[in-house]
Amino acid sequence: MQALDALPPLRDVIAEHGLRATKALGQNFLLDLNLTRKIARAAGPLEGVHILEVGPGPGGLTRALLLEGAASVTAIEKDARCLEALAQVAQASDGRLTVIEGDALQFDHRELMAGRDGPKRICANLPYNVATPLLTNWLGSEPWPAWFDRMVLMFQREVGERIVAQPGDDAYGRLGVLTGWRTHARIVFDVPPQAFSPPPKVISSVVQLVPKEVQHPCDLKALETVTRAAFGQRRKMLRQSLKPLFADPKAVLDEVGIAETARAETVDIAGFAALARAQQASA
Ligand code: SAM
Repeated sequence: MQALDALPPLRDVIAEHGLRATKALGQNFLLDLNLTRKIARAAGPLEGVHILEVGPGPGGLTRALLLEGAASVTAIEKDARCLEALAQVAQASDGRLTVIEGDALQFDHRELMAGRDGPKRICANLPYNVATPLLTNWLGSEPWPAWFDRMVLMFQREVGERIVAQPGDDAYGRLGVLTGWRTHARIVFDVPPQAFSPPPKVISSVVQLVPKEVQHPCDLKALETVTRAAFGQRRKMLRQSLKPLFADPKAVLDEVGIAETARAETVDIAGFAALARAQQASA
């Protein structure tokens, strides 16, 4: 059996299996094993930890996660062309790698990982076209705190900025509220386009998200409803943008201590949670 660190270079794997990157699947592969090890370390230490990876592709990050000592990696890949290359990684992994073929959006990830004993974590270089829906699904996991204790994920830098944005930041919006409501999030490091094959047009960021106890309890759906209304018309004052949700938005804003002239971009998570509770109560 071939050892993990003796597997052929990723460039050769890609050539051998004809893995020409396709845009439709958001394929930008990482070929530098030093970089994939760095990402895996941001998710570590990994001894005893079970990882869910979405989109392993030719397996660069997958190898790194296994080399860093993950107890197991469960990897969901939509592109059947990658399966042979991944089977080679699986063969070298002492049974620690399970590859599932399919669309990651179609699986219940909690259920998939339920049989694994010990801490569970999500680590992935996400396909940009499904990165946000995957993240919002994970952030919306019930019950909370979630089945995973950390997520270390690669996004386009612009999405990373929206994830970690604070009130008053240009990038602050629905994603920042949802993320901040349930996690501590930070950008760990940036990755330049030339680190990928093919290089994307933009810089990427590795983001770490650690689930936390929710300090401002409210219903997830209600929170989504109020942030959708508020940020849907982000330049408008809340007394205007919340009209579709409340018969008397001014009274509600007054009750929760937010100025009726405030705009969504200045309201913090405590404020949105209070509005969500008011929406729940009035629904
Ligand atoms: N992890 C590899 C790396 O870092 O080199 C590949 C990352 S590439 C940005 C995204 C990967 O996600 C591709 O392998 C692509 O085929 C896969 N993918 C795209 N959409 C997917 C989906 N809905 N479910 C699962 N995998 C998907």
